[in-house]
Parts: sequence; C-alpha cells; structure tokens
Amino acid sequence: MTDDVSPAAVATSAPQPRRVRPRPQYRAVRICRVQRVTPRLCRITVTGEELAGFSTQGVAGHVRVLLPAPGQDSPALPTWGPNGPEYPEGVPRPVSRAYTPRRWDPQSLELDIDFVLHGDDGPASAWAARAQSGDKLVVVAPRRAYQPDPLAEWHLLAGDESSLPAIATILEVLPATARALVYVEVHDAAEEQKLSSPACVEWHWLHRGDAAPGEKLEAAVRAAPIPEGNGRAWVGCEAVVMRNLRRHLLHDRGMDRAAINTQGYWKSGAANHPDHDTGEEI
Ligand SMILES: Cc1cc2nc3c(=O)[nH]c(=O)nc-3n(C[C@H](O)[C@H](O)[C@H](O)COP(=O)(O)OP(=O)(O)OC[C@H]3O[C@@H](n4cnc5c(N)ncnc54)[C@H](O)[C@@H]3O)c2cc1C
Repeated sequence: MTDDVSPAAVATSAPQPRRVRPRPQYRAVRICRVQRVTPRLCRITVTGEELAGFSTQGVAGHVRVLLPAPGQDSPALPTWGPNGPEYPEGVPRPVSRAYTPRRWDPQSLELDIDFVLHGDDGPASAWAARAQSGDKLVVVAPRRAYQPDPLAEWHLLAGDESSLPAIATILEVLPATARALVYVEVHDAAEEQKLSSPACVEWHWLHRGDAAPGEKLEAAVRAAPIPEGNGRAWVGCEAVVMRNLRRHLLHDRGMDRAAINTQGYWKSGAANHPDHDTGEEI
C-alpha cells in the first residue's frame, strides 16, 4: 500500500489553522444612577471612559454584562488564549448575562439598562435589586441588533418584561406611517410603562397574575386580529412560549419566515439561557 499524497489527501490531513475567537472589547463601567421604573423593573445607568466609541449598532440588540462574583469588588476579566477566555485557577468567573441597551448617550457616556427583578434565584436579578451608585461591572460589545423594515405596513411586537426594553427601542424608530400591534405580558398593571413612538401604536397589556409565564401572551397573540398587507413580527419572551408563537405565526397565520424575528430571552428553570436562541429550527 502506498501513501496517498494526492493534493486532496494533503489538504485534509494538513493541520487546519485554528480559528481563534477574537477577544471581545471589555468596557469597565460604574453605576452612576439607579432608578425603580416600576416595582419590578430597575433602570441602572452606567458610565465610564471605556464607553467612548460604544455604539448600540441599532435597536433591540444586546450587550453582555459581566457582574462581580460573590466577594469581588469588580468582575475578574480573562486573559485571551488559543481557545478563547482563560481565567486563572481559583479565580471565580463573573456572572455573564444578556441585556438590552435601553438608552445610550455618547455625549455623557451614559448607558441605561433595564433589569427585571424576577427574584433572588437569578444572580443578575439579585445584583440589580441591590445595586448602588459606584458599583463596578463590565459591558461587552453589542450584538444582534434588529432592523425593522421601514416599508412594512404593520409590526406585531410581542414580549414580556425582559423584552420590553427591546420593544421600546423598536417603537422609537418605527416610521409615522407604520402601525404597531404591541402585546406585552407583565405581572400586573403597576408594571405597565408609557412608551413613545412615531408610529400608530395599539397597546395590549396583559396581566400575568398567578398564571404561568407567557400563557396570557400566547393566548392573546393567537386571538389577535392580524391585518392584511406587508407585516413583520418580532417576538421576545420565555423560550418555550417563543417557539409556540413562532409555530403559530408560521403555520397557522402563514407568515413568511423572513418576516418573523423570534428570540428566547430566558427559559423557565434554566440559568443563563443562551442569547442566540432564535427558534429557527422550526
Ligand atoms: C438578547 C437578549 C436581551 C435581553 N435583554 C434583557 C433586558 O434588557 N432586561 C432584562 O431584564 N432581561 C433581558 N434579557 C433576559 C435576561 O438575560 C435573562 O432573564 C437572564 O436569565 C437573567 O439572569 P439572572 O441571573 O437574573 O437569572 P438566571 O440565572 O439566568 O436564571 C435563574 C432562574 O430565573 C429564571 N428567570 C430568568 N429570567 C427570568 C425572567 N425574566 N422572568 C422570570 N424568571 C426568570 C430562570 O428561568 C431560572 O430559573 C435579555 C435576554 C436576551 C437573550
């Protein structure tokens, strides 16, 4: 038997160059303001010189916030190795979670992030409930902004408290000619917010009360009179409910895949649900 030295064999057996994940930009910031927008929503404004050059890159995108582990004053940052982030032995990793830039002011270098206070079972929620001016955290590069179609006649926006910041940023950029049908499930009436938009907005606030998360949202979207014409749907909520709604929009309403943007913002019973769960396998 001879050794196969054909170009193809050489190509497959030669060591492949390792694709090293580029180091993201870590921006160390500190809290300059904490405000309770509603009983269960805390707006945290962060600032710092390292925010110079930051951009949200559009609406409804997200950053990763890195929060100090218990006992730390500021989150430990990794060095960058061939396989990505590396933390020294024994140094606790920061808590890392996805959050939406709600407002960014490049003049004052202030970034607002709205944290849902869903309970102490979530380290980010627990941290936000106790956050104070001066507390340190790190913000990592914005990702996956959404581009609402400026030619769409209507926009269905559906979500819960966690995606309300994203819905708010989408509403702010819709044209005055657009119609927005907004379905947001919140705990109760105290969680409703007054949000502005150039578009003509039909608000549907759904009060969860003691029902399962997303139950009322799903029922309301299923029953929603969806207009004729060129429309787009954006859904951000609990991951199982997101999938139910995605199936409904595709299969029962006959919407085109390209007209639907869905994302699981969190998952019941799961910590740190991945921030790239778009349900596109459906
Ligand atoms: C693209 C994107 C943008 C997001 N933007 C925001 C934002 O602007 N504001 C915001 O508050 N959240 C936002 N989220 C959701 C947020 O990342 C999750 O809620 C995250 O799980 C919170 O982390 P935690 O440490 O509090 O809870 P985790 O440790 O992740 O979870 C602990 C437990 O809490 C439950 N849980 C988690 N989140 C919720 C919730 N919202 N309601 C009820 N139970 C929950 C989990 O099911 C789990 O059982 C966004 C998510 C994505 C993917």
